[in-house]
Amino acid sequence: MKLRVFGSGSQGNALAVRSGETLLLVDCGFCNRELERRMSACGVDPDAAAGLFFTHDHTDHCKGLATFHKRHPQVPLYANGNTADAISVLTGVDDGWRVFETAETFPVGGLSVTSFSIPHDAADPVGYLFDDGASALFVGTDMGAPTFGVRDALARATCAVLESNHDPVLLQTSDRPVSLKQRIAGRCGHLSNGDAADLVRAVCPQRLKTLLLAHISRQCNAPYLALEAMRSAVAELGRPVALEVLDQDAPSPLYEF
Ligand SMILES: [Zn+2]
Ligand SMILES: [Zn+2]
Repeated sequence: MKLRVFGSGSQGNALAVRSGETLLLVDCGFCNRELERRMSACGVDPDAAAGLFFTHDHTDHCKGLATFHKRHPQVPLYANGNTADAISVLTGVDDGWRVFETAETFPVGGLSVTSFSIPHDAADPVGYLFDDGASALFVGTDMGAPTFGVRDALARATCAVLESNHDPVLLQTSDRPVSLKQRIAGRCGHLSNGDAADLVRAVCPQRLKTLLLAHISRQCNAPYLALEAMRSAVAELGRPVALEVLDQDAPSPLYEF
């Protein structure tokens, strides 16, 4: 499988995963012009996508949809019912949806897709596992706490895009309003660096080859802090795992796993 993350963070999220001829997109959280600029820089053709999957209805995951859908109306839009409804209201896109039940597994091209529920303050947020039989990509960001579904999916992953949103000290000492600090640190907020490392320790994902730290807060985190927190958890796995931080402003390298 091949993965390209076009950007990750509270200013926008989108990625593309490919297995053989099957290209799937996840989230559409940049304005469409910026998303298509990044896609074309990476040689990804949106018209070739067999589906655009949504994690949840926050604007940093869906704000480009109205224009994207106008330009690529044939790309099916996948979400659970509550998320599809919420994004329809937000973006005005009310056709092209293929609604699934959270936790059901279904094929799209050469990939099998499983969603899992995550606690976050959105309509009905999910993460995903995309599996082609040989490799599997875990996508789990925007979650206040890991659930059974999160742990189960991560255990099966060969590559993971995992949230490592904030450093708790930087969050508490930031000049953000108390209500926002509580939201971010709460059960329906975002995983801290330590939460992400604890999750990897708890799951001990035996197949994992590549771990990409995602949705890093600009104000309340730094790439070196996220890496520092995760490094020992990865070392405890006892075998080499590529560990990197995803960027908000530029597409990632191409990952193959
Ligand atoms: Zn987000
Ligand atoms: Zn969110």
